[in-house]
Amino acid sequence: MFDVVVVGAGLSGAVMAREFAESGKRVLVIEKRGHIGGNCYDEKNEYGILVHRYGPHLFHTDNKEVVEYLSRFCDWELYQHRVLASIDGMLVPLPFSFASMRKLFPQALARKLEEKLLARFSYGQKVPILKLREADDTELRFLADFIYEKVFLHYTLKQWGITPEEIDPEVTARVPVLVGTDERYFTDRYQMVPKEGYTKMITKMLHHLNIALMLQTDAKEILRLVDGKFQLFGKDFTGVVVYTGAIDALFDYRFGKLAYRSLDLVFETLQTERYQEAATVNYPNDYDFTRITEFKHIHKVDSPFTTILKEFPKPCGEKDEPFYPFFDETNRKIYEKYAALAETFKNLILVGRLAEYRYYDMDDAVARALEVFKKVFQR
Ligand code: UDP
Repeated sequence: MFDVVVVGAGLSGAVMAREFAESGKRVLVIEKRGHIGGNCYDEKNEYGILVHRYGPHLFHTDNKEVVEYLSRFCDWELYQHRVLASIDGMLVPLPFSFASMRKLFPQALARKLEEKLLARFSYGQKVPILKLREADDTELRFLADFIYEKVFLHYTLKQWGITPEEIDPEVTARVPVLVGTDERYFTDRYQMVPKEGYTKMITKMLHHLNIALMLQTDAKEILRLVDGKFQLFGKDFTGVVVYTGAIDALFDYRFGKLAYRSLDLVFETLQTERYQEAATVNYPNDYDFTRITEFKHIHKVDSPFTTILKEFPKPCGEKDEPFYPFFDETNRKIYEKYAALAETFKNLILVGRLAEYRYYDMDDAVARALEVFKKVFQR
């Protein structure tokens, strides 16, 4: 009945489903949750405010192909994300930049540090904190240690349970120190949000005559691995299986469990027009949550109320939602075993943050799914 089964109706699954459907294949999408969209899911709450149920999702990319692809399914609202960090009782722009230094330090010191940075790096350069800490110059070292301690160390301990040195350097490099004054969180050419939200966009992607969708269905109930072969509804299935869930679950944890980080997400609606100056305020050193996001900044709405979200990181237990792959050496090795096993299934495709165990942003997820589909088609 179906040529392709897609497990998971998040962004990666939706792109794959759409691509196969448009190529004439009949696609079944199986989703465990009661809604589509994966962790990009957003919804209007009872106050008419569009909130991101699984934490703030900000689309930003330099990839024009991805923008053009998604533009088929939504209109955009231009939006450039701004993040402030609460440091020593002051709110300063992130990524840490000249603008942050000018707010935090006496002006003479800020100027001196700017000169030092400019003597070493070019204007506009983005320097990962772990790189900056390698500086031998006394003043640059002071600056690097300050930023490390006040921005990265305690935030990373909260978010990941380990220090910046212990996590993959790419993680902290996502928020580099900026040798310049740009106060935006991202510097990509395209920064915007779907006008009516991600859920509507992904709904349109899945709206196709060749796509059937089963919600609230654990893939395990209908898709089984028997003697190294897939069975769908109890019958041999030789079509393509696109899997976007956690890969260890697919193989019944035979090489052990992969670690993920999860979050407790606490929403509050307050009777005030505005809660904070920027969409997101990070609290690296205070409280148990990492950041507060106020959604009205992202999706403009006229309301006497505002909704905020506090994120409390935690390890991902049995009943928790996996949000971030925890890729230290041990887990990377475990992942490689699963990936090698997956390779032995000619009709199995892994895509997305969970299945590939990669810290994909939304644009990466779309680009990756499009690329994987192209490869399949060339086969
Ligand atoms: N980070 C930090 N302090 C901050 C912001 C980020 O230490 O104020 C580090 C932290 O390790 C975090 C990583 O940089 O996990 C990536 O941050 P990003 O904002 O990209 O995380 P996401 O929005 O994906 O949760």
